[in-house]
Amino acid sequence: MIPRLALYKNIVGKEVIEKIRAAAEPLRDKHVVHVNSTSSGGGVAEILNTLVFLMNDIGIITGWRIMFGSHSFFNITKSMHNSLQGKNWRITRNREEIYLEYCERNSIVHHLDKHDLVLIHDPQPLAMINNYVKKNYWIWRCHIDLSNPNKKTMDFFLPFIKRYDALIISSKKFKMGIDTPQFVIRPSIDPLSTKNKKISHQKARRLLFKRGIDLDKPIISQISRFDPWKNYYGVIRMFKKIREKSDAQLVLLGNMASDDPQGPLTYHKIMEKVENMDDVHVLTEHNDLLVNALQKESRFVFQNSIKEGFGLTVSEALWKETPVLGTNVGGIPLQVINGKTGFIMKDEKDGVNKAIKLLEDDELRTKMGRNGHMHVKDNFLITRHLHDYINLFKRFYPPPNLK
Ligand code: UDP
Repeated sequence: MIPRLALYKNIVGKEVIEKIRAAAEPLRDKHVVHVNSTSSGGGVAEILNTLVFLMNDIGIITGWRIMFGSHSFFNITKSMHNSLQGKNWRITRNREEIYLEYCERNSIVHHLDKHDLVLIHDPQPLAMINNYVKKNYWIWRCHIDLSNPNKKTMDFFLPFIKRYDALIISSKKFKMGIDTPQFVIRPSIDPLSTKNKKISHQKARRLLFKRGIDLDKPIISQISRFDPWKNYYGVIRMFKKIREKSDAQLVLLGNMASDDPQGPLTYHKIMEKVENMDDVHVLTEHNDLLVNALQKESRFVFQNSIKEGFGLTVSEALWKETPVLGTNVGGIPLQVINGKTGFIMKDEKDGVNKAIKLLEDDELRTKMGRNGHMHVKDNFLITRHLHDYINLFKRFYPPPNLK
């Protein structure tokens, strides 16, 4: 089903829909383009798969370009991503050249000077701005955790970043000490997508049963890309301790995005670690309905990230009334209100204790699940996200009476 704004009326109400339409009116027929590096896998693609269509639906002519690149380009950009999240890495002349060459190749074929507004997502296409004589507005939308970036990598990117007219970040913790205007816009989920729409308990259970999951045993899960930042190994360590005290099974559902070459290696390491363990299921199927079913049927969901831009998986689980046990990084504490919509773990020992509490206390889980759903409804739905974008765009294209 193609996302159209009117379809969200039953969830957010008629008034919200009308407000969004009215707000977007001055932007009618403006040309906007989003650029990122994959059409599926990971949070950015997840958001664009809805947002781009809603923007078109309200009259903003919106395109979506996906960057192409060689294997070495994506290896370098993943290392850049990792070092912007704080990992030690050296950006050599050769790596810079490969990175810049692919930014230039993409600039030649994507014609980004033909739009009123260009939205560049994350570091992969960041330097494309350098290949144009800038006549339009450019915004860099950074989705990653910039709380403690590697200085050398940041120094490489800064001259490009400073050419942008504005930056969007997911949390004020990621603000950069530069003059470029910076706006905090929280990501969001699409409540009508296959991943988040309401499905019946029976259907969800059937989907899980077909993957060999025991329907009589409580399910704990983590659903994320197979990426070292998601700290799957920590989840496995905690699960071993949880199992000593409480009966449960662990389901790890992960995917590999085409712009993330670390996926296969992380998957193999996970498989090694669970080799002799009972009650652990590792699934790699690309299936939104399965994500939906697993988030719905889990007693709680782990989000054990070491660094996290936002973590859509948290809102996805909360929307299904499933509490989340998360770490205190990036956007996770915006979603997991400690003790209300789940728990923030101080360390693994605390994680184990909180996990057992969640497994055993039905009433607490139900209460947290309800709170979580309301928290997402009030703050993290795609309609709010769309409205935030419209407000930002109007800073560049104000209605005639405000010029
Ligand atoms: N995801 C998925 N299948 C999987 C694992 C993850 O569809 O097997 C989705 C997940 O539901 C979420 C997105 O990938 O929509 C991950 O976004 P998030 O912001 O949590 O993390 P990112 O991958 O952007 O770091």
